[in-house]
Amino acid sequence: MTKIKAYAADNKDANLKPFEIERRETLKDDVKIDIMYCGVCHSDLHQVQNDWKNSVYPVVPGHEIIGKVLEVGDGVTKFKVGDLVGVGCLVDSCKSCSACEDNLEQFCENGATWTYNSKDKHLGGHTFGGYSESVTVNKEFVLKVPENLDAKAAAPLLCAGITTYSPLAYWGVKKGDKVGVIGLGGLGHMGIKFAHAMGANTVMITTSPSKSEDAKKLGADAVLISKDEAQMKEHANSFDFLLNTIPVGHDMNPYAALLKRDATMVIVGAVEPLDPLHGGSLIMGRKSIAGSLIGGLKETQEMLDFCGEHNVVSDIEMIDIQNINEAYDRLQKSDVKYRFVIDMKSLKNN
Ligand code: NAP
Ligand code: ZN
Repeated sequence: MTKIKAYAADNKDANLKPFEIERRETLKDDVKIDIMYCGVCHSDLHQVQNDWKNSVYPVVPGHEIIGKVLEVGDGVTKFKVGDLVGVGCLVDSCKSCSACEDNLEQFCENGATWTYNSKDKHLGGHTFGGYSESVTVNKEFVLKVPENLDAKAAAPLLCAGITTYSPLAYWGVKKGDKVGVIGLGGLGHMGIKFAHAMGANTVMITTSPSKSEDAKKLGADAVLISKDEAQMKEHANSFDFLLNTIPVGHDMNPYAALLKRDATMVIVGAVEPLDPLHGGSLIMGRKSIAGSLIGGLKETQEMLDFCGEHNVVSDIEMIDIQNINEAYDRLQKSDVKYRFVIDMKSLKNN
């Protein structure tokens, strides 16, 4: 076992602070990764604050990991020392249930192992995430990152990227479709970039008029201010697809009203109770509301390759680990452009 530096929260009210964790020795099928960058997902904040009521402390968050391979086990041929690689939200699954057989490890029927806050099969206790110097992961859960991408701006692809790419791909968004992305944060800005790259007519649906110019630069053809009833009325019954990234419970009725007949709104943000939905808002127009959770490993690799081909990365604000608590305060206020990424040199050199 190796002891390494990390940042952790001790309880739901605590600030993150320096903490030491252990990583296992590199096993036959393992890849040991030197973490260069780690994105800051709103899920990190939810779990630090125990919003989902399942946090185990101390929490070392971080599931948008980019780094270089430091060491590989004897059974690893796909990766070699020095390769640029990524790790997302998953580090293990049973690999034999029907979900795993369908390359949907995130829905593993025997319980996937999440990058942090999951039972650690090797060391006991629970897993620790990417706000740390290094991580050792089974080769099946390590992704190749196209070398043409800016490594730090590619970090958020590992969660924000796949979480938005997967529903757009699964629900078959195509050229010319009118696609709305609700919430311009980490997920939302990737949603707009992907929908635009797929040829859709994209609309950023936001509560923040101040983000309008940025939304257009990111690839939105139009901006819809969700608090403006007249604007919402103008767009009623017109969307082929909606991707809803709002991080908290909310009233979905005004958004359902935007869907065309037979269209779907996919919820990825609110992992918590939603306000009551009027049945009529789905019945009148045979509309659907669905959910989606990250994506499996195969699809995550496909998404990274798509990003390599289309040169899609995140718009990021780099921070040092010492500024993580300030970044969380800003994330809470929807004030991030559009993903914080931690430069892990700040942890190593301190
Ligand atoms: P984020 O960067 O904080 O962005 C969320 C955006 O939603 C905000 O910038 C804001 O955009 C909008 N918003 C915030 N509060 C709102 C409210 N009360 N009503 C309406 N809009 C509101 O968060 P993120 O990292 O993109 O994550 C979004 C959510 O997805 C989080 O809950 C996270 O845990 C979840 N998540 C889910 C998955 C999955 O697999 N399903 C994966 C990753 C993350 P505007 O200012 O434009 O309105
Ligand atoms: Zn995430």
